[in-house]
Amino acid sequence: MTGDTYVMRYITSVSTTHATAVNPVKLTVEQQLVASVYPCKVSGYYAGLIGSAGDAIWRQCMPDPRELEDQTQFADPLAEELLSPVPGLIHRYPDRVVLLVSNRCPVYCRFCMRKRHVGSGEDLPLEADTLEKAVAYIRSNPSIHDVILSGGDPLMLDDASLHQILSRLRSVPHVKIIRIGTRVPVTLPDRVTSELCNMLKSFHPLYINTHFNHPDEITAASARACGLLADAGIPLGNQTVLLRGVNDDISVMRNLMTGLLGIRVRPYYIHQMDLIKGTAHFRTPVSRGLDIILALRGHISGMAVPHYVIDLPGGKGKVALLPDDVEREGDLLILKTYQGERVSYRDITETRE
Ligand SMILES: *Cc1c(COP(=O)(O)O)cnc(C)c1O
Ligand code: SF4
Repeated sequence: MTGDTYVMRYITSVSTTHATAVNPVKLTVEQQLVASVYPCKVSGYYAGLIGSAGDAIWRQCMPDPRELEDQTQFADPLAEELLSPVPGLIHRYPDRVVLLVSNRCPVYCRFCMRKRHVGSGEDLPLEADTLEKAVAYIRSNPSIHDVILSGGDPLMLDDASLHQILSRLRSVPHVKIIRIGTRVPVTLPDRVTSELCNMLKSFHPLYINTHFNHPDEITAASARACGLLADAGIPLGNQTVLLRGVNDDISVMRNLMTGLLGIRVRPYYIHQMDLIKGTAHFRTPVSRGLDIILALRGHISGMAVPHYVIDLPGGKGKVALLPDDVEREGDLLILKTYQGERVSYRDITETRE
């Protein structure tokens, strides 16, 4: 780092180590066309979890021609850009903000809610100036107590860059907790080293929410990564996205949620798919998510039952859905935001792969 003009460096050691393994997957001409619009990247480790073409791992990472056919959705349905007071910061709720610190990930998930950002040609390295503007904004808003690092994947930054970001955030007294959202334990578990954990644990209270979607992602390597983070005193949560043809199935979800507790990860959210352009083929009706919650509640440890949430379009926030009190008018759901506003949400009609 030279003076105040340093630029975040992405982990070169990891990308070098895995260089030969990156994109070990072969794409058909059709898939290459999709990848020219929405980049394809699969870490060697994650590619190794593919059992056969079309399985739950394959569907999450391999380009699908249906991504290009989906013209009906929005690139930014959650109005994240409108809610961005300074570049890289999303301020939707009074007491917490999301800070986008990287636009890279070990694997570009085909269902990604930030599909318009991640892996896009331009790198969005978080420059010192951008970080300082975000920190200044947070400093001038004493109601902000919780900062969530997201991206892309924050753990794609090297330890020194992450340390710099965390130190700057910790210099603001009213920032009580810091969270990191990362899929690295799932897609590049070797990135979780004891050096990383030692660094992270100097910033407590620090929480990590990771992102497992299928029991096949629970492996010796991902268990080791989560164990190291947990040993550093970092409480681990998990956010799963409900994905058609991947995990929209009761026994898959039961195995996933109980499996996560077994590796010291507490299920936090199941997300209804956002209305992101290029992801329609993954969307399930809301009734599928409600059926899954019903089949989890009481049947498995309460510790393993997450909240099922919809992130309302227009930046109105997340709403938790309970099977017993969803109001419906035909294919419209009537949902109440955290501010008490009643909002109608159009569900899709039942289809199943
Ligand atoms: C999801 C989200 C949060 C965090 O919400 P929690 O329910 O506290 O986990 C904060 N800000 C934005 C913009 C979000 O999308
Ligand atoms: S790891 Fe997260 S941010 Fe990265 S592509 Fe997957 S879903 Fe998107």
